[in-house]
Amino acid sequence: MTTVFVSGASGFIAQHVVKQLIEKDYKVVGSVRSAAKGDQLKQDLDTPNFQYEIVEELSAPGAFDQALKKHPEVTVFLHTASPFRFDIEDIERDLLKPAIDGTKNALSSIKKYGPQVSKVVVTTSDIAMSYVNGDSSSPAITEDSWCDTTYEESLTNSFAGYRGSKTFAEKAAWEFVKQENPNFTLNTVAPTLVLGPQAFASGIRGTLNTSSEIINAVLKNGPDESTVPDINANFIDVRDVARAHLHAFESDVKNFRYLVVQSQFCLQYVLDALNKGIPSLKGKIPVGDGSKTEGLKSLPKVDNSRTRNLLGEFIPLEQSVVDSANQILNS
Ligand code: NDP
Repeated sequence: MTTVFVSGASGFIAQHVVKQLIEKDYKVVGSVRSAAKGDQLKQDLDTPNFQYEIVEELSAPGAFDQALKKHPEVTVFLHTASPFRFDIEDIERDLLKPAIDGTKNALSSIKKYGPQVSKVVVTTSDIAMSYVNGDSSSPAITEDSWCDTTYEESLTNSFAGYRGSKTFAEKAAWEFVKQENPNFTLNTVAPTLVLGPQAFASGIRGTLNTSSEIINAVLKNGPDESTVPDINANFIDVRDVARAHLHAFESDVKNFRYLVVQSQFCLQYVLDALNKGIPSLKGKIPVGDGSKTEGLKSLPKVDNSRTRNLLGEFIPLEQSVVDSANQILNS
């Protein structure tokens, strides 16, 4: 039985990763920031094959040393933990350092205390592959693209800080492998904006994780059309993101950046999916006048055909939105 370590196990994406691992009979050691979060996950998973260790702060030197010393049975390490929020006080302390130093800390601990670990997967983002001023005239984003941000630019606002955090953390991971020649091979998983249901209904709270809150807000805001934000982005369902993490260590693929993107997404598409897929929402949410699809035309192009060849079909936006909304409405 293979034992897989999942950092940030209580996160939105990580809970799906852990759930899929348990469903496939892996043993899982998850790191969480508090016993309350670990206990909740243990209760939701309801299996002896899951245990947790507390890692309160990714950027603390040697953050993963104790957890890895305690679990010599771990042979796969999935590093998903990283701050994904914009309501921060200090860009360097709250975004850049936990992401970059957290990644270096994880890999250094594995090299020192987990020499038996043969596969590592780091969760990055398509933002680490996207150009700062990219638009539809830019070259298509592929598995080989890198964001052209600088550390200085990352300090200018929290969005730029998040972009820098993902770009420099992923670069640090590849640099580590090049410099340190560790016993493990590395793949990274780069999701675009991730939607879809929480792994467990217990995850439905007043405010959800950054990406899921988009649909939660539509359901909470009522029918007022003026509350519809103008979001233009790409989309992937969380269950496909989790599947990519499993593929990234189960397959023979190595040194690969999985670019997990399904389709374009804007709030009008979400409204269309909800109004069509859940008739009871009629009159309770906006219909949208179609004007907020314009921004999609300027989005950079994406060519993730290599990733699609490896992973096959992705869940469509309509199903993802309806599944998320039904979970929220039924909780
Ligand atoms: P969540 O916020 O739900 O999960 C992040 C996890 O990391 C949580 O378990 C969180 O713990 C932990 N974490 C954050 N900061 C620290 C820290 N300083 N020290 C220790 N643990 C920390 O976000 P997602 O599941 O959405 O994101 C998971 C990964 O996927 C991240 O790497 C994110 O950048 C990436 N990603 C997400 C996308 C999305 O749309 N959701 C898109 C592209 C990439 P706690 O909650 O207890 O603070």
